[in-house]
Amino acid sequence: MKHVECINYINLDCEKGMCALSKQIVPIDGNGSDACGHFQPAPVCGNCACFADADKHGIGTCKGFEKENWTYAKCGAFCCEHYKAARG
Ligand code: SF4
Ligand code: SF4
Repeated sequence: MKHVECINYINLDCEKGMCALSKQIVPIDGNGSDACGHFQPAPVCGNCACFADADKHGIGTCKGFEKENWTYAKCGAFCCEHYKAARG
């Protein structure tokens, strides 16, 4: 799991964000991007029970609506009425 997938991650730009708990700057990917022990899954498509069949780029299928459609794992789901936490 990565910081960017954590509910405590606050996005700053396309490379980095801030941890709301530690106030540290954390990278989206690469070195130092792995989550810490305080990780809690954020409501993103990749953490939703309706997300399936992701490819190596994290692009998968949303099965939460009447018509299936593609989505990507890091897509924010704060406003999705069909979000169902898959874990956490
Ligand atoms: S709680 Fe841990 S995993 Fe979550 S954003 Fe902060 S440092 Fe990253
Ligand atoms: S139901 Fe919503 S949160 Fe879940 S995968 Fe589909 S679009 Fe994403």
